[in-house]
Amino acid sequence: MATIELQNLRHSYVPEPKGPEDYALKHMNFTWKDGGAYALLGPSGCGKSTLLNIISSLVTPSEGKVLFDGRDVTPLTPDQRNIAQVFQFPVIYDTMTVYNNLAFPLKNRGFSRQRIEERVREIAGLLEIEPLLQQRAANLSPDNKQKISMGRGLVRDDVNVIMFDEPLTVIDPHLKWKLRSKLKELHQSVQTTMIYVTHDQTEALTFADEVVVMEEGQVVQIGTPVELFEKPAHTFVGHFIGSPGMNILPAEMNGDGPSFHGTAVPVANPPARLEGNERLEIGVRPEFVRFARKGESGLPVEVLKTTDTGRYRLVFARAGDTKLHAILPEDESEAPTGQAEVIFDPERTRLYADGWLLEN
Ligand code: ADP
Ligand code: MG
Repeated sequence: MATIELQNLRHSYVPEPKGPEDYALKHMNFTWKDGGAYALLGPSGCGKSTLLNIISSLVTPSEGKVLFDGRDVTPLTPDQRNIAQVFQFPVIYDTMTVYNNLAFPLKNRGFSRQRIEERVREIAGLLEIEPLLQQRAANLSPDNKQKISMGRGLVRDDVNVIMFDEPLTVIDPHLKWKLRSKLKELHQSVQTTMIYVTHDQTEALTFADEVVVMEEGQVVQIGTPVELFEKPAHTFVGHFIGSPGMNILPAEMNGDGPSFHGTAVPVANPPARLEGNERLEIGVRPEFVRFARKGESGLPVEVLKTTDTGRYRLVFARAGDTKLHAILPEDESEAPTGQAEVIFDPERTRLYADGWLLEN
């Protein structure tokens, strides 16, 4: 196990990068704590695999260093870095039995016969592939091949980090859920640092203690699932995480506080100081939007439709040109139709400048 530090990292696949758009990874300083269960979450193309491959040394960064426990490992090979990596598609030896596929990384490292037997049985049990151990890998289903591939990543307990790059892509949906909770279980028992890459928020939030959210080559927030939900550091995080995501309304300053189309909207972080040329937005999750009661006044909206999920009601509305979602508990009275007014929970409503949460 090791603490992994990324120092002043930058990466471009272009030989002579010019602007920031030429960088697959923008300037980055980041530390992965020893023993952490991390998810690296972001949309396709945001640089997740690039970052993972830099940690494993499949990609050499254009700038910056990778340190394991304070030691510069940038020039070292994947083998020398002592890491395990599981890819999106199975990497296995077709001609070997399942048993030998799992045993191979251990044999390579000179583990004893007995230790190999123990670990192979343990991992095969965890992945529910014991009945396949004596079969040749060649004829197995894609699901089973990927399980073996994951097993090969998990079998060594002496690695610095185990990294998974969207490993469940080829796995059947019902199995996905099971494997994900097994991985979590396994992390709790071995405590090896794990980095799990995915573009799927559910996968990220169920696996990880800490989620690292990336967008366009940069880390925009690191936090527990609760932190990402409660206090998105960037409108991207608010929008990307949550179902539906955070409402984002263009705002302007009116006196001390922000307003939307002339209606003042109290926020938890009224800005102490602004340059004046920032792009301001108000962010509030649908969970913290409610309809004004008699005698209250709020933000005028037009209710477009309401759907009932059985657990809550989801209201689709529009404030001017801006779409707005509200999630109402089941027990509340009828959701209004047509013209209505909404109120945002001021403790859960925040102001963003150029996408970033304003500190106050
Ligand atoms: P993700 O894993 O989040 O989908 P990647 O790290 O694969 O993202 O890609 C980040 C960016 O770098 C994308 O724009 C992608 O097209 C580009 N890229 C990735 N790998 C290469 C490569 N080998 N050569 C050139 N460009 C690449
Ligand atoms: Mg990728």
